Amino acid sequence: MKFDAVVIGAGPAGSASAYTMAKAGYKVLMIEKGSEPGAKNVSGAMIREAVISKVFETKDLPFERIVKRVRLIFKTRENETEISVKPKDKLYTIARLKFDKWLAQKAEGAGAVLITKTTVTGIEGQKVITERGEIEAGKIVIAEGANALLSMSLGLRRELRSEETVLGIKEVYASTRDEVAKRFGLQGDEGESWRIITDYPLPSAGFIYTYKDAVAIGIGAKVDEITQRDIRPFELLDTFKEPYSELIKGFSLREYSAKIIPENGFPSFKPCEGSIYVVGDALGLVDPLTFDGIGPAVISGHLAGKAESCNAYSNSLYEASEILKVMRSRPLTRELLKGDNLSLYIHLVTDFSLSWAEGDLSKLKYYKNSLGTILKHLLLGLEVVQ
Ligand SMILES: Cc1cc2nc3c(=O)[nH]c(=O)nc-3n(C[C@H](O)[C@H](O)[C@H](O)COP(=O)(O)OP(=O)(O)OC[C@H]3O[C@@H](n4cnc5c(N)ncnc54)[C@H](O)[C@@H]3O)c2cc1C
Repeated sequence: MKFDAVVIGAGPAGSASAYTMAKAGYKVLMIEKGSEPGAKNVSGAMIREAVISKVFETKDLPFERIVKRVRLIFKTRENETEISVKPKDKLYTIARLKFDKWLAQKAEGAGAVLITKTTVTGIEGQKVITERGEIEAGKIVIAEGANALLSMSLGLRRELRSEETVLGIKEVYASTRDEVAKRFGLQGDEGESWRIITDYPLPSAGFIYTYKDAVAIGIGAKVDEITQRDIRPFELLDTFKEPYSELIKGFSLREYSAKIIPENGFPSFKPCEGSIYVVGDALGLVDPLTFDGIGPAVISGHLAGKAESCNAYSNSLYEASEILKVMRSRPLTRELLKGDNLSLYIHLVTDFSLSWAEGDLSKLKYYKNSLGTILKHLLLGLEVVQ
């Protein structure tokens, strides 16, 4: 069997790539190991419409709710401060199974062929090897997600060390549309997104997202911190969600999943070699602190689909704002996830709020010794240092 292009993986990156190439008239095959697109994927998930619409027509995008308010919560064991943000962009919550199916259908609609329940086991030259046989391809796009076994076997990237990975764990609790609206005080299609950073029981970033008739709740923490402190992933999530138990009381558990989020990636991973291209999480294009990865996956998939050479793809990644954002945030994100750094800011924000509330700002003098660290992070954020 021969195709102009074979795309491995039908996640957001794979479908964006297959869609772009099929639309341009290429004969495209997309291979997915799950029973259907999205079956194996893990996300909160919140997406920015402005990014998805750069590639896809979004009129019929299967969103859950439109996020009207993002609540940022800084939480210590004893205290918490909340900042409420009205998003400027149009943000949607989405359920991955529905969203990934919709993306794959767009690719199929443009003419790509999708086969599921098929794992690609290797790539040899221009041949894609599966358990069911071999396919010859002019162009190969690897959109296999964070585990990236194929990209590693080809030497395009190395395996990540545990200190370079975050583990994301997520549950979805289902109820009725009315009950979700009542608990969060929502009207119609309105939704909420909560982003919580906490240092208890260890530095981690969590989220609560409202779906139509369900609530997604999850947390991510560095793998080496989880192992060093001998905490099991489900215990971490249980501790995190305990203060929010009233929000999901009586709801039924619909989903439990966990996945690695890479803390490193392009440009230290190779985006392509010859006619083999790597996109999305496989290329490390995700922010492990904000979990923002679907947008970069869609954009990188699209760019790889469009590119006529490895050089052109590599250059286009450096020009895409969505990809630059991940690359530029990485040094600061990495630093914030180190040791007690996240904890410093959580305490700074909560102490500042408390001092303000109590009318005694002199308490902030305790942060005098942290000025060096804060200045270093500012310089990283300003890209003055790398
Ligand atoms: C807990 C958690 C919460 C998150 N929340 C958000 C969020 O709110 N917003 C956001 O933008 N991002 C979020 N992310 C990140 C987001 O999920 C990823 O960045 C995004 O899914 C990357 O897309 P992808 O297509 O590169 O990879 P994936 O979505 O992982 O897709 C890879 C696909 O390839 C298939 N595959 C893998 N290997 C093979 C093979 N050998 N043969 C055939 N098929 C194969 C897999 O089954 C899968 O379908 C979150 C991540 C986690 C872990």
